[in-house]
Amino acid sequence: MRKIYLIFVFLLIATPQSTAWGFAVHNKVASNATDIMDGDFQNFLLDNIGSVKSKSVEPDQIKSSDPTEGPRHYDDSDIEHMDINVSSTSEDYDLGVISWAILNATNNLADAILDNNADGILHYAGYIAHYAADATQPLHATKNYDGQFTGNSGIHSRFESELVSRNFYDSFSNTTFSELKIVDPYNATKNIIASGLNLTSEIYYADDVAKNDTDYYDVLWNMTSYIVIDRLNLATQFTANLWFTAYQMAVKNGLEVFSPVFQVKTTSSQVNSNPSSVETPVGLLFIFSIPLIALFRKKKTSR
Ligand SMILES: [Zn+2]
Repeated sequence: MRKIYLIFVFLLIATPQSTAWGFAVHNKVASNATDIMDGDFQNFLLDNIGSVKSKSVEPDQIKSSDPTEGPRHYDDSDIEHMDINVSSTSEDYDLGVISWAILNATNNLADAILDNNADGILHYAGYIAHYAADATQPLHATKNYDGQFTGNSGIHSRFESELVSRNFYDSFSNTTFSELKIVDPYNATKNIIASGLNLTSEIYYADDVAKNDTDYYDVLWNMTSYIVIDRLNLATQFTANLWFTAYQMAVKNGLEVFSPVFQVKTTSSQVNSNPSSVETPVGLLFIFSIPLIALFRKKKTSR
């Protein structure tokens, strides 16, 4: 009996924290986004889809070892704050810098494409897929991310993990996508965060109603499936648009032949594991400020 108990405790400890849509969702967004790309870039991503998918979950995996990583996954947009990631002493960093994370990762992807750096391309493509999906999760746009201020504690994981895993196939049922287009990574993310914030009250309300029903998840799905389906479609489209944008930036900056080369003996850990902390020349296309690595206290709750 004691042995079983210990195994159970071990599993609890060993199981990754439930964060941000769950790993299956991040993998699916990355692979669906690859499907709507085109040309040589798509072929390269398809040939290396395993790496893209594994990189799409890495941002959540490094949170425990990199205290600056957490705030790259959200924006507490309902709290007025300086939206910069330049200060190592600013409390505001902890209120979220996802728009910067997406901008910087897109710039870094553009550089990797320009350099025909295969490892870098896969790394940043995966990170973009992750952050883009997190940006579409409405509860990543608010300080009330776990319903803690409205009597909906625990809604974060019920909504993004349990609900979606119970309805995984249906969650990705909107497969209508627009033509790829160049986007402004920073402001596009801001807009997605703003539209997500507008949906949060629907999620809390659905939680309130569902809690009074014995079929909690059925009711929650009935009331919020339109949000899940719509946002995951958006996550896929946004990821593909950001990849497309990075490719077009590289072309604009002189890419002649797209022919990525893997660095001999280079492991993924040798590629900068912190895509949003590096500023690059290509980044000057969009950038107005220079992000620096910031060292912060760890957030109490992972998102
Ligand atoms: Zn995340």
